[in-house]
Amino acid sequence: MTVDRRAFLATGGAAVAGLLNPVVSAQDQPADPVAAAKEFVAAHEAKIRPLDVAAGKAWWTANITGKDEDFAKKEEAQNQIDAVLSDPKPFAVLKGIKAAADAGKIPDAQLARQVNLMYLAYLEKQVPPDLLKKITAKANAVEQAFNVYRAKVDGQEVPDSKVRSTLKESADSALRQKVWEASKGVGAVVEADLKELVKLRNEAATKLGFKHFHEMMLTLNEQDGPALLKLFDDLDELTRKPFTDAKADIDARLAKKSGVKVEDLQAWHYHDPFFQESPAVFDANLDAPFAKADIPKLCATFYAGVGLPVDRVLTNSDLYEKKGKSPHAFCTDIDREGDVRVLANIVPNEYWMATMLHELGHAVYSSLNIPAALPYLLRAEAHILTTEGVAMQFERFSKSRAWLEKMGVAIENPDAFEQAAAKVQRNQLLIFSRWCQVMLRFEKSMYENPAQDLNKLWWDLVEKYQQVKRPKDRNAPDYAAKIHICSAPVYYHNYMMGQLFASQVHHALAKDVFGVEPSKAIYIGDKRVGEFMKKRVFEPGRSLPWNALTKHATGEELSPKAFAKDFQG
Ligand SMILES: [Zn+2]
Repeated sequence: MTVDRRAFLATGGAAVAGLLNPVVSAQDQPADPVAAAKEFVAAHEAKIRPLDVAAGKAWWTANITGKDEDFAKKEEAQNQIDAVLSDPKPFAVLKGIKAAADAGKIPDAQLARQVNLMYLAYLEKQVPPDLLKKITAKANAVEQAFNVYRAKVDGQEVPDSKVRSTLKESADSALRQKVWEASKGVGAVVEADLKELVKLRNEAATKLGFKHFHEMMLTLNEQDGPALLKLFDDLDELTRKPFTDAKADIDARLAKKSGVKVEDLQAWHYHDPFFQESPAVFDANLDAPFAKADIPKLCATFYAGVGLPVDRVLTNSDLYEKKGKSPHAFCTDIDREGDVRVLANIVPNEYWMATMLHELGHAVYSSLNIPAALPYLLRAEAHILTTEGVAMQFERFSKSRAWLEKMGVAIENPDAFEQAAAKVQRNQLLIFSRWCQVMLRFEKSMYENPAQDLNKLWWDLVEKYQQVKRPKDRNAPDYAAKIHICSAPVYYHNYMMGQLFASQVHHALAKDVFGVEPSKAIYIGDKRVGEFMKKRVFEPGRSLPWNALTKHATGEELSPKAFAKDFQG
């Protein structure tokens, strides 16, 4: 369910107000900042635009074919973009223009915004080449170790799928414990390399004028540590009680299934290694209504009905399983001129209904609906979290009885479906929000103070936010068994913020367009939905930073209020 990570990592965002980066000094400002900015934008666009399109196409092809030569082309295209952005000469010029923009000498807001965006994109790539090489090599070593690692139980290798199915199905607590412990074994294998990687990332960040890597990553994405923590503290406050209640219900069912007392439940009694997903303890078959559904057709009808047609996207997409193809799903805007594509592997079940609604949510928030009149650099979604948010806003309908019935999808036992789907939806969001608390706080603290006892830090956070108790006497690098800490650092919180954005925009739309309770707004056949989304969310493109866009769309900055309301009652 990811959006194009290539685009996200390459473009960054605009500077956080008040960040004083020591590499920008006032005396390098150009004599005519407006002319210099225009000239720089034009030169940058001329270089980057064809490379972006080439990289987008190469990325697409590699994911469809899975062939080594296509992956090599994809890497080469990315290297060419990096070569432009890492060149210190244009960056020196850009720093002067950025200083002028910060001093208010570029009155045109769109021009100043482009300067800020370019500045961060170049800044990210100014790490000294040999240090960057070391970081890439270390990250690759960790990823490879993950790829080849196989959990071992009683001397026997256990594939990942077996780990997952055992945790989902087995009623044997001793076996669950062994499998869970074995799945964590990769942590000890990569621990030393991961610690070295953290050190190297921090070194890169301090070279660019940041305190540590976490601060650097947030800044490159227009986010600021204290404000982010405040948002997550508020989220913690609002979700603690509903989460505790939901978990009590889940725990009672898990205990019964496993034949243990609730107070004896351990980390290995949950259905995935990190308790990041809702355990399958509710007797409901959410897949049944979709067994005969034509998922692309349902999506096409729905999106056309709300005034955001996706026929062109579906024509350009690759939607079914084939050999060599990536098993995941994503959406990518190839040229910012309407060539928008979805890669998927549809089978007729609820997961793929949700996933297609999600990916097409990304698709409608693209150059399909962002005006061509915006400059190239601003003709994209405001931020990773806003596009994830829109995708999640639409994705949620696959669990709505009212939505399915109005779309003509037959449900055999609608009352049971409604009850179960609502519970699964609620539990998934609550459990995910607590898991994101652990990830955000762990990474922040780890980069701030890498020398601390990380094993202890991890379990302190798991106990506090996920309410899963640490196994007795356990002292192991369990955090290192989560691959995202290596390969997608300081990223997880954006998914959570996307959920907050989804709820907040949906609540604003329900109120302003339909004048109904959020749970009653199901959008079907109402073109005012498309109008709202275009005007309030899509049309500013990247000309507004994410929080200004949130305010533009909903009247308020991003907060967990709407998200938390979805759990009341
Ligand atoms: Zn996504």
